[in-house]
Amino acid sequence: MKRAIFPGTFDPFTIGHFDIVKRGLHLFDEIVIGVGVNQAKKTFFSVEKRVEMIRQAFGDEPRVKVQEYNTLTVDFAKEVDARFILRGLRSVSDFEYERTIADANKHLVGLETVILNTDPSYSFISSTVVRDLLTYGKDITAFLPPNVKI
Ligand code: ADP
Repeated sequence: MKRAIFPGTFDPFTIGHFDIVKRGLHLFDEIVIGVGVNQAKKTFFSVEKRVEMIRQAFGDEPRVKVQEYNTLTVDFAKEVDARFILRGLRSVSDFEYERTIADANKHLVGLETVILNTDPSYSFISSTVVRDLLTYGKDITAFLPPNVKI
């Protein structure tokens, strides 16, 4: 059983995140989306809302699970018995960050990170852009996965 976690803040989960998970399902039997809770970091959406929106996106897809976590990512992977971390890469500026984290996780517990390049049509989409648009009352439906309501 090849199980991966897809960790992130997902404030909110965008169509870019959705695309990475859908493509990850071709590589893994199961993907556990880990919604990070960081007490020190104030988020726009509550963790309950972030989880609910991701559940709406995947409907009854049995190979995708959603769970909140407030530990180190390596401990979360151990808790759900995953040997892989799935991440998305939008740009060169994402790369150094992702590589450092991946190297650390590999060094700590031997967790393997699999990074998928973002579909070019989604590479400009970020949770930050979505939050900014929302703040000014703009329609962000096109930036969210199908079937997701704010
Ligand atoms: P974090 O707080 O860990 O950066 P994010 O919610 O911002 O969490 O992102 C989680 C993962 O999704 C990261 O690997 C990030 O690079 C990836 N990601 C973010 N936006 C996109 C996008 N538009 N397309 C593909 N992957 C993305």
